[in-house]
This record gives sequence, structure tokens and C-alpha cells, in this order.
Amino acid sequence: MTEDYRKIELIMALRNQGIRDQAVLEAIERTPREMFLSSPFQPMAYADQALPIACGQTISQPYVVAFMTDRLKLNDRCKVLEIGTGSGYQTAILSPLCRRVYTIERYRTLAKEAEERFKTLGLANVTQMVGDGHKGWPQQAPFDRIIVTAAASEVPKALADQLAIGGIMIIPLEEGPMAQELYRITRDETGFTRERLLPVRFVPLVEGVARET
Ligand code: SAH
Repeated sequence: MTEDYRKIELIMALRNQGIRDQAVLEAIERTPREMFLSSPFQPMAYADQALPIACGQTISQPYVVAFMTDRLKLNDRCKVLEIGTGSGYQTAILSPLCRRVYTIERYRTLAKEAEERFKTLGLANVTQMVGDGHKGWPQQAPFDRIIVTAAASEVPKALADQLAIGGIMIIPLEEGPMAQELYRITRDETGFTRERLLPVRFVPLVEGVARET
């Protein structure tokens, strides 16, 4: 099977699983996932599964990327904050669907590799930082959308504070030893509303910037 054929099969599977937003499906179709993987994993780029990347982390499963992006309800005026750049794949999917993406990663190695990919793909509206995502990016707040791609025990206060009124946050939260649920948090003048969306499995959101050798 060719890469293109596998990709079309993946898009069809995502559509069958309820991802209907054409812009989201197009972003996935146009983004070469193999570019975000090391060579041993490239043949599996269009299988619908999470795969290992450097620093013991993972690139998210395409369905979960599509689902989270769909539920963010992006438009070209949105300023988006992403916590957990990882490979940069989710960032690359967000980039064509919004005005600007600010993305934070705690591993410098991953941030650098992602930066190269953003350059190669010509993603001009992505700004990155190595830092602790728990703190958000106060200098750039408020954000219309916030997407967290690592699981926290509770919504970090700084992120809630940095969500604009009318904004949407998608975040996986731990709900027990092996259980995580994806939540959508919306903010209006009166406060925050939480909706449970989907059981998921993400790597943990870890405090502080990673020490690397
Ligand atoms: N969106 C990524 C998924 C990467 S996995 C992708 O598509 O590839 C989650 C990432 O969150 C990991 O790279 C991990 O290092 C990062 N992470 C975990 N805790 C963090 C924190 N406190 N601040 C910033 N990044 C964090």
C-alpha cells in the first residue's frame, strides 16, 4: 500500500468515527505525519495509533488529535495556546485553522526538533517556548483556545486565568490510577463550565522544565 492510500484510509476512518469538520480533515490530509516520527516508526505514520518520540514521550493518536481539534471549534481569529509541543504534529494541525499558535514544551530537544519541522513546512504563525506549561504564557494572554496534550490532575490555575471570556479549553484530566478523561472547559462572564468528552491516555503533565544531559 502506498502512503497516500493509507492516508486516505485514515481520513475515511476518522470521518466514520464522527469527525465531520472538513477543515480539520483537510489539515490532517495535508500534514505529513511521517515527518514527525523517527525512521523506524515512519511506516506506521497513518495507522491510527500513538507512537513513541524522543525523551520518552508520544505523538498522539490521529483520532485524538482530530477529536481535540474538532472540539476546539477554531476559526481564523483564534489565538491558541498549546501545552506539550512534543513532536509538533498537533501544532501543525492547529496552525492552518487559527490566527496564531503559542506552544510550550518542557524538553528542549523536542522543541528544537519541532522547530525544524515548522520551518520545513513553512508554518509562519507558530511561536514556541521551552517552559513549564502549568504557568501558561502570561505575556500573550488571554487565549481564545487552550489545548493541553498531557494529562493533569486538575486544571492548572494559570491556564484557567489565561482563557478568554468566550474561550474553550480542551484538557485531559486524571480520574484515578489508570483513568483519564478529556474535558472541554468553556468560560463565560459568570465562570467556567466543564463537559466530559472522551476517555483517553496521555503522558503526564510534569512540573518544571526538563533537565537534559
Ligand atoms: N502534541 C504532541 C503530544 C506530545 S506528548 C504531539 O502531537 O506530538 C505531551 C508532551 O507534553 C510531551 O512532549 C511532554 O514533554 C510535554 N509536557 C509534559 N508536561 C509539560 C509541561 N509542564 N509543560 C510543557 N510541556 C509538557
